[in-house]
Amino acid sequence: MKQSQLFPKTRKEAPKEAVSINHKLLVRAGFIDQLMAGSWTLLPLGFRVVQKINQIIREEMNAVDAQEMLMPLLHPKEIWSETGRWDKADEIMYKLKDVHGKEYVLSFTHEEIVMDLLRKNIKSYQDLPVSVYHFSTKFRHEPRARSGILRGREFMMKDLYSAHATEKDLMDYYEKVKEAYRKIFNRLSFNFKVVEASGGVFTDKFTHEFQVLDAGGEDIIYTCDKCDFAQNREIFEGKEGESCPKCKEGKIVKKEGCVEVGNIFPLGTWYAERMGMYFTDKDGGKKLVWFGSYGIGPTRVMGTLVEVSHDEKGIIWHPQVAPFDVHLIELPGGHGEEVYRKLKDAGVDVLWDDREVSAGEKFSDADLIGIPVRLIVSGKTGDKIEWKERTSEKSELLSFEEITSRLNI
Ligand code: ATP
Ligand code: MG
Repeated sequence: MKQSQLFPKTRKEAPKEAVSINHKLLVRAGFIDQLMAGSWTLLPLGFRVVQKINQIIREEMNAVDAQEMLMPLLHPKEIWSETGRWDKADEIMYKLKDVHGKEYVLSFTHEEIVMDLLRKNIKSYQDLPVSVYHFSTKFRHEPRARSGILRGREFMMKDLYSAHATEKDLMDYYEKVKEAYRKIFNRLSFNFKVVEASGGVFTDKFTHEFQVLDAGGEDIIYTCDKCDFAQNREIFEGKEGESCPKCKEGKIVKKEGCVEVGNIFPLGTWYAERMGMYFTDKDGGKKLVWFGSYGIGPTRVMGTLVEVSHDEKGIIWHPQVAPFDVHLIELPGGHGEEVYRKLKDAGVDVLWDDREVSAGEKFSDADLIGIPVRLIVSGKTGDKIEWKERTSEKSELLSFEEITSRLNI
């Protein structure tokens, strides 16, 4: 892509109301735009990053045999009344009426909708298990939408739902999804903890949050300095400095500034009981379906990546989710167009700065946008290309072949 055509241009100043780093940098660099509090456009650069995050999530969901689909966002009141959540979740829901007075809610999650799909389609144990997911918009009336794209009132979620014939099958699958989530967050190089939390309807089981540490967030967790014990503030009953209730050897440390990027819920038979989701088991008996749900917020993930990876000049993208593989900077006398074509032909996703602006402006924009590899061509580089990484001051002159082999192409 030619940078002269990229919409919109970068900005020198962050918006006045911006307090969080992700808000300031993502807006200045042209990744997102705020329509109103908690409501964001993903601009072309931001949309590229979110699609790459989604692809990583999709690969790991498909690897646990989940099937992708897409569910509606406008839901009738009746279905939410079946579980009582029309009243119970009143504060978070955006409700509306049509011209005939019929009431609806904009999707804030999809358990009831999946349960309705299941009861229309699952008759016998042979139809189970089922595991389906989608990427779609969620609407939530968040009272404090101040953390940039970390907390939207309208945001993207990948939500997976699974249904099983037995509790054991549900909990085996739950552990598989937990592992898939670990893989996703490891692929993004997050420093994270799997944290026990409440929020389930299964009284004897925890839910699990995936909390990124030191990420400028609002969440607080308590974790052991020796073992994997971690609980969130809402359920932890001890104090910092006490010995760990799990391994007895480590000490409890308090971590502030965490961001929850994922949450998984073993929901048991709570939904099936309320929505009448029975199946016929092997012995001919009628049984309730065991259910779980599993969410990740890709737009929050993008904001978290910026919170944990930036410097005073701008964003530093992880190579797996950067909007482009390389940023080609053409300075006077360089064969920009030729190198651009060759890189594209070799399958490299490249942003070519073909603009007629100063070298200083090109470099400061490149630092702000944060593509991990910068290639520079100028009168001085001759038939070689200068390779410089976003995180290093060092640069090297390389041949085209050396570049493609370093990019692993
Ligand atoms: P929080 O406690 O941060 O408000 P939540 O526990 O209400 O989040 P879940 O219902 O567990 O959120 O949603 C699953 C995932 O969706 C979260 O782990 C997070 O990644 C994402 N998410 C939730 N709320 C938002 C939001 N307002 N904006 C962006 N992403 C969100
Ligand atoms: Mg949560």
